[in-house]
Amino acid sequence: MNDPSEPYVYLVGAGPGNPGLLTLRALEVLATADVVLYDQLVPKRILDFANPNAETICVRELPGNHPDKYPHIHIMLAENAKLGKRVVRLKGGDPLVFGRGGEEAEALRAAGVAYEIVPGVTAALAAAAFLDMPLTHRNYASAIAFVTGHELPTKPGNKLDWRALANFPGTLAIYMGIARLPLIVAELMKFGKAPSTPAAIIERASTGDMRTVISTLGGLEESRRHAGLESPGLILVGDAVGQRTERSWFESRPLFGQRVLVTRPKDQAAAMLRRLELLGAVPYLMPTVEIRDPDDFGPVDAAIDAFRTTGWDWILFTSANGVHRFFQRLFARGRDVRDLGRTQIAAVGPKTAEALQAYHLKPDFVPGTGYSAATLAVALKHLVAGKRVLFPKANRGRDVIREELSQVATLEAVTVYDQVDAVEPASEIFDALRRGEIRYVTLTSSNIARSFLTACDDTIRDRVARGEIDLITISEETSAAVEALGYRAIAQAVEATTESLIQELIRLAQERTEASEELS
Ligand code: SAH
Repeated sequence: MNDPSEPYVYLVGAGPGNPGLLTLRALEVLATADVVLYDQLVPKRILDFANPNAETICVRELPGNHPDKYPHIHIMLAENAKLGKRVVRLKGGDPLVFGRGGEEAEALRAAGVAYEIVPGVTAALAAAAFLDMPLTHRNYASAIAFVTGHELPTKPGNKLDWRALANFPGTLAIYMGIARLPLIVAELMKFGKAPSTPAAIIERASTGDMRTVISTLGGLEESRRHAGLESPGLILVGDAVGQRTERSWFESRPLFGQRVLVTRPKDQAAAMLRRLELLGAVPYLMPTVEIRDPDDFGPVDAAIDAFRTTGWDWILFTSANGVHRFFQRLFARGRDVRDLGRTQIAAVGPKTAEALQAYHLKPDFVPGTGYSAATLAVALKHLVAGKRVLFPKANRGRDVIREELSQVATLEAVTVYDQVDAVEPASEIFDALRRGEIRYVTLTSSNIARSFLTACDDTIRDRVARGEIDLITISEETSAAVEALGYRAIAQAVEATTESLIQELIRLAQERTEASEELS
């Protein structure tokens, strides 16, 4: 139930598409929403930031033939709010700029439902920032006009004064105007706007998929056609557009425009997706494995109880998942980290060590390089000789720890989580792979590689063979798993970390760009 003093509906601006441009307030209300009703133009990626238990509904799915789905949106908002749910109405850009947010607020007032409005970064502001151009300029533009290009300029009763707009002393940001571009241009020129006025079109501003056309007012339609830009896009007209730099700061990012598939479980993908986005890439997420509770916690519980009896000299972790799952179980049994007492802790690499930090624990041992179970096993051999060693692990994976260490120590390996294949070959992502829309596939463990590659069909296999899809792995082990299935990875991380894998991706993408620049 809502606190009665809290508003029930949040009319929220999602910004132009890059999740980094969500406001803090938008994140707060998304994270606690029960229902999220979003516009089709809001990228799916933004929904990653909503409460995972929230019901998410695209307005397209509402009944009615009208593309705007009114009045069904109003009804839906009011009904859910009255049920005591926290409703977020998510709109692209800002809700009050060509977003009909005003009408929704009015309908809520009429229905007696309280609301809050959360502004968002509107397309014109994002376009200017990501194109690297000013919207106002002391010498070139003293005003900005947000204009709808949706109304036919020649329509009787048309509310826009194109003569005034042609003489406007600043930048025109024309929304929803691509379909009527020739008419808009003609109208502006008819009333005296110079054909040489700098003009631009920008599509998906703020995302790695952003595309732009820079031209003049007179040449804009031809440039657009030549570049193949379609709706929706934003048109900018004015001398300030001429003040842009050749290549924006965003277009200069090392992975700008590269489409990269992330294949790890969703709850472990967030940091990698964000990092790729910040590098200018377009990340896609398709989890290929899922983490679940093991069928039987018996052996884990017995091992946990043994902390208080025989004790453990060492505990080994080979993944962040292993760490979190082990402690979840420990806490679920009403115990706490003191049980570990003087038990020494070994971690396979920096990410696993970081996971331990969440419990205020510092590993006694992390291998210097080559973060794999094999390296850990070899390095630990003399340290754990003759000791009692606990190894919380996944249900599958190479048994190298057990092979190496059970000869020298009393080793108890217990399954704290199951990793199961979870690929949906019918997903949109597989379609995108088949169509050749995704260039890079990152494979961050051998199990992930196996799960992903066994689900690929011949079309995808052929694309990989022809070098149209590149596989990049996190380690030698993962590359070996790829080869065992008859594929070849084009690159492999130097260290077994996500960051190292991303560095390989950057190197590869840069090599390609240089090669294509040499050709042209
Ligand atoms: N409320 C939104 C505008 C909705 S109207 C806002 O404040 O931005 C839809 C129009 O917005 C599109 O036709 C396009 O002109 C523009 N638009 C929205 N997001 C955009 C983006 N990321 N890049 C370029 N144009 C965008």
